[in-house]
Amino acid sequence: MPPLTRLDENLTRVRDRIGRSEAASGRAAGSVTLIAVTKRTPAEFAAHLAGIGQLDLGENYPQELWTKAAELAGLPGIRWHAIGHLQTNKLKKTLPLVTMIHAVDSLKLLAEIAAGMASANRLERVCLQVNMSGEASKHGWSAETIRADADRIREIIARSGVPVTGLMTMAALGTDAETARPAFAALRELRDRLTQETGLKLTDLSMGMSGDFEAAIAEGATHVRVGSLLFEGMNPS
Ligand SMILES: *Cc1c(COP(=O)(O)O)cnc(C)c1O
Repeated sequence: MPPLTRLDENLTRVRDRIGRSEAASGRAAGSVTLIAVTKRTPAEFAAHLAGIGQLDLGENYPQELWTKAAELAGLPGIRWHAIGHLQTNKLKKTLPLVTMIHAVDSLKLLAEIAAGMASANRLERVCLQVNMSGEASKHGWSAETIRADADRIREIIARSGVPVTGLMTMAALGTDAETARPAFAALRELRDRLTQETGLKLTDLSMGMSGDFEAAIAEGATHVRVGSLLFEGMNPS
């Protein structure tokens, strides 16, 4: 079987599972955005996905995002998502390319994005990363420190118009869908609480990957970031 046929099938299967999860949790069809995480796969896979209507594509590493965005610049409608840790020195080249930044993990990075808004022509959504598992290897605020920084976050938004629309988290290493679920619920509760305390409109919850996206949707995910499941059984050509 040619590899791209397998990609079509994998995508259909993931979309079906998302649809079933939306229905099971009483959410409208299409309320969850699938971001196809194309990191470490050939640009032709991303191009193929875009060609069959999977236009939301995620990359973890800025250089890879820059290269693919340049290679696929001729394809209309692609929305690039920066999903990984962003160093501030990578921001200048990244900002003009991306529709959504998922993992803003410090006031410093948020302020740098705010300062670069003039070049962020496509930027629609920004999520603040919260480390719900407490693992030292993960970036982001804790549930406590983000509440402590809320006034400064609000001030940066008010001054710059940086479109902060929600929160993002990653499940702890080694968790599966069921063990990850409490962290997803906790992120939703934190989002609700921050909304109440700050008046910020935090509608987005970017959470859920290949191993746990259904649990994340059950807990209110609006954006799921799925990579390995889409490329299962595919040999890069
Ligand atoms: C790689 C990655 C994903 C996708 O993970 P899979 O388990 O391959 O689906 C999602 N989010 C982030 C931040 C990632 O780095």
